[in-house]
Amino acid sequence: MMFWQEIANDGVQKMCEAISDREAFEMAETFGAHNYHPLPVNVVRAEGGYVWDGSGKKYLDCIGAYSALAHGHLNPKIIKALTDQAAKLTLTGRANNTTEMALFEKSLCLYTGLDKVCPMNSGAEAVETCIKIARKWAYSVKGVPKDQAEIIACEGNFHGRTTTLVGFSDTAQYHDQFGPFSSGFRLVPFGDAQALADAITPNTAALFAEPIQAEGGVLIPPVGYMKEVRRICDENNVLLIWDEVQTGFCRTGQRFAWMHEDAKPDLMAVGKALGGGLLPVSAAVGTNEAMGVLKPGDHGSTFGGNPLACAVAIASMAEMAVQDYDRRSEALGSRLMEGLRRANLRHVKDLRGKGLLVGLEVDESIDTAPIQQSFIQEGLLTKETRHRTFRFTPPLTVDIDFIDDIVKRVARVLS
Ligand code: PLP
Repeated sequence: MMFWQEIANDGVQKMCEAISDREAFEMAETFGAHNYHPLPVNVVRAEGGYVWDGSGKKYLDCIGAYSALAHGHLNPKIIKALTDQAAKLTLTGRANNTTEMALFEKSLCLYTGLDKVCPMNSGAEAVETCIKIARKWAYSVKGVPKDQAEIIACEGNFHGRTTTLVGFSDTAQYHDQFGPFSSGFRLVPFGDAQALADAITPNTAALFAEPIQAEGGVLIPPVGYMKEVRRICDENNVLLIWDEVQTGFCRTGQRFAWMHEDAKPDLMAVGKALGGGLLPVSAAVGTNEAMGVLKPGDHGSTFGGNPLACAVAIASMAEMAVQDYDRRSEALGSRLMEGLRRANLRHVKDLRGKGLLVGLEVDESIDTAPIQQSFIQEGLLTKETRHRTFRFTPPLTVDIDFIDDIVKRVARVLS
């Protein structure tokens, strides 16, 4: 009872402030499932592009919640939208309409250039929603025989952690011992439009891919790939679904990565930055034809489209539109790439990037663990993703000095 009473009396903040970094790690180790292996940093506070641990050490946040923190930590405009809305209406479920949800749907259509929105919460849910819509479209519009619809996805994909999604991942740890899985998916090499064309059958409902594989190690397909994929889908009456959960909302220097090649999808999964760094907000967005197959009762979510999340997402999009986040991302990303290129770094096998989604791949002559450790000592938060690649995805609101500071710190570790 003491435990609850203390929280009830003093509030959560005071309780958290009394817990040391070491105690917080021990508590998480004891009471949390071990499905992550976090960096040895316990973040207690954040602002803009920076975070602090309990000892007061300041870090450049180059992880940015895996691209979800486009607006930076505690963006005042988004906080205001949250607190204003929190004082008025937060949650109703979908049994009724709300003005905030309606305005959210209109805003997201305007921002993406697509026609209709199905609001969800996490990125994986948005992806699952796209898959369900594509399958229903295949049966009800294209005329694919019952339960025969196929979706073509790409090798090296990452679309989230549900059992359907890990079932067509080719990363062993994501699926080993989690089967049986949903059938109806086949993989082709990423970036190979011909392989996609060859894999299409009369039962193909959709091609489903990330335009750039971020978790896969910041893999950028050859120029012309996205456009060619669009052409192949049109030619074969197959839907094109882009997973823009990580690449969307200006991360790659355009509002959405498909815009680099004008490869407009029929369906798109979005999430992460839509929540303004405050809340999980995601959606499937699509054309009238694709989205039109959903009928009442086909799909839903208790929290999807809640007024609080919608108010935050509307403010997030307004901020991205008004402050030209796409151009910021392009300019800051170029500066980071140039800076890293000029820094005479050792052990760099490849440097890849589009906008402020940058991956630095280190060669096999060195173990990545001590590099990771040195980055932390230098006050730089970045985490290795696949292909021995350290990903740099700081908020899109940081300034040039922040970018130059990243370069300096990386240079101290790798030169
Ligand atoms: N799709 C892509 C491309 C992602 O990068 C991620 C997460 O990193 C997801 C889907 C899943 O999003 P969430 O973790 O919000 O479910």
